[in-house]
Amino acid sequence: MIKYVGNAASGGLSVGKIKVINRRITGFKRVVLATHREKALYEAAVILAKDELHRLMMGSDGEHRDILNFQLVMLDDFGLNRMIQEHIAADNGAARSVEMAMEEYCQRLKNIGDEYLMRRTGDIRDVLGRLVDILDGRSRERFKLTEPAVIVADEILPSDLASIDRRYALGFITAGGSYQSHANIIARTMGIPSVCGVDSEILNPLNNGRKVCLDGYSGEVFVNPNDGTLALFNHRILQEKRAKLSLMALKEKKIVLSDGDHVEIYANCNDPQDISMAVNNGAAGIGLVRSEILFMKQSLPTFDSQLEFYRSCIQAADGKPVTIRTFDVGADKPAGNVSVDKEPNPALGVRGVRLQYIHRELFETQIKALYIAADMERPINVMIPMISLEKDVKDYLDMAYGVRDRLMADGVIKTDGITWGIMIETPAAALISDVLAKYVSFFSIGTNDLTQYTLAADRVNVGAAPYYDPMHPAVLKLMEITVENARKAGIKVSVCGESAADVVCAKAYIDIGIRCLSMAQNAMIPIKRHLTEEREKTAVR
Ligand code: PEP
Ligand code: MG
Repeated sequence: MIKYVGNAASGGLSVGKIKVINRRITGFKRVVLATHREKALYEAAVILAKDELHRLMMGSDGEHRDILNFQLVMLDDFGLNRMIQEHIAADNGAARSVEMAMEEYCQRLKNIGDEYLMRRTGDIRDVLGRLVDILDGRSRERFKLTEPAVIVADEILPSDLASIDRRYALGFITAGGSYQSHANIIARTMGIPSVCGVDSEILNPLNNGRKVCLDGYSGEVFVNPNDGTLALFNHRILQEKRAKLSLMALKEKKIVLSDGDHVEIYANCNDPQDISMAVNNGAAGIGLVRSEILFMKQSLPTFDSQLEFYRSCIQAADGKPVTIRTFDVGADKPAGNVSVDKEPNPALGVRGVRLQYIHRELFETQIKALYIAADMERPINVMIPMISLEKDVKDYLDMAYGVRDRLMADGVIKTDGITWGIMIETPAAALISDVLAKYVSFFSIGTNDLTQYTLAADRVNVGAAPYYDPMHPAVLKLMEITVENARKAGIKVSVCGESAADVVCAKAYIDIGIRCLSMAQNAMIPIKRHLTEEREKTAVR
């Protein structure tokens, strides 16, 4: 038995056979030709790689399609191309030049220290690796999994994920990669155990087919486990399955309060895949779809891509209520193409609804896509973020109703399928919620921002963490005011901040009259367990 310890990247336990993806053998028997011929080879390889990516795009959708599109854009990147050409001019040969430029370029991105750019280095390595494979005459056929296996690789690349049948992926073990790398983000959403940063010795092809035990909680990996380790893992896996089953029994359980009121548990989601999972895990509805995810990519979403996304979200919710938030760009969610550059205090700057005066066209396109999606599928709720002024709500809704009326007049939509709401996430919005209630049909309290703005504690600044308390009496007071004003106006109110998933906060929110809590979908079942156990204990007493 050999034990390795890496970094835990996605929780869970696995026992299975190893399948090694080994890509590290490069430079074998390369011959460097005259510079002009290497240059021509490089240019031909780029054309071929583009062709391959276009073909791959035809068979993919969603995020993978976006990644392939990004890789196509990278093949035309001016800076990267210049770097490669310079190395070719220095007689390094096309394949080696691509490898050299890849290292330099990725290092530059890493030096910027931006997490998003760092994550993109995997996509860049993947597409440049394709070029090197073409130049070295290696196959670009991605490996296929035909039976369950634990995948071991230097790094799991986006193109691997596209070709792996995820039903067979028992776990990922990588020598490189990070917690934030694309494969690990996917692993966490799919519940696939993963460990990264393991000694590269594990990539030895002799490990193919060997048994491995993988602990995605502790980062431990046991190759050729002895009988004791194997038995322990099998026992823990069985226990986990049982625990999951008993938790799943809670999936449909209703939270009923002593006065007979129900508390509904909704999910916060990013995309249709997330929504399907949430519905399968018992979400009574989707309380927040963060549409800004669409605006934080390399290029802005088109009307068509938005329409497809919103329709897929509605379909994935399988008849359950869906609330989509209009894009909340700015502050902790910058989007290069939309947010205002270099604000001295971005959290207090032009974010969310405030951008309507700068990017009216973008807002109108989103509204149009939402109205048409609702008309084609079924009615939805849409809410507006970052409200502090009555004027912002009024202006936004004037714009929205203008779009709706034009779509109706042109016969594009037959129904008005949107119920409008706003987020209450600034003290100002909470304090004037009586006035704001006249414009909308529901409030959703965003405690992440409400806490930040009430306590003047930046939500992304670790140093300010001691001041950031969603249970602070001032935050609860503002929530109480909001609930009371919603009650008086006869409109709905829910909470969709992270704190809704905290059992102490959730109970406090229920006590002030909240009857709908929306949270990350993996928090729903644990919170249901806590809340139902608590009620059952009180009932027995
Ligand atoms: C919030 O502010 O509580 C919220 C749900 O929105 P976000 O975290 O996306 O700003
Ligand atoms: Mg917010």
